[in-house]
Amino acid sequence: MGWVDFEVRTRRRAELVDITERVAEAVARSGIAEGTCHVFVPHTTAGVTINEGADPDVAADIESHMTELVPKEAAYEHAEGNSDSHIKTVLVGPSCTAPVREGKLALGTWQAIFLCEWDGPRTRRVEVAVARS
Ligand code: ZN
Repeated sequence: MGWVDFEVRTRRRAELVDITERVAEAVARSGIAEGTCHVFVPHTTAGVTINEGADPDVAADIESHMTELVPKEAAYEHAEGNSDSHIKTVLVGPSCTAPVREGKLALGTWQAIFLCEWDGPRTRRVEVAVARS
């Protein structure tokens, strides 16, 4: 079991950033052939998810509809003014796992791993841990 981390610089307030290649590099460097890749972000207003990476319109729709689903302006208590970002992060979650087969990330054909920024632009940290099974 080993882990690595890397930084992602986001450019918009709501933005899905495809981090599949960087996670795949971490999997390759781990030298583990069969196991589980765990991706975690140590943040409260950004999360991580696995979804369609082939058509960029899907990520764009997720960005715009999450913003509709959880509006920025509402009757929130949190004084920092970013409760919508915290709520979107709850919906997405702070981590995801994917199988590792034959030393590679074994995602579905259309799947990609996305850092989900909800309070950018910021610099985010992503941790990748690969465990042997
Ligand atoms: Zn806050």
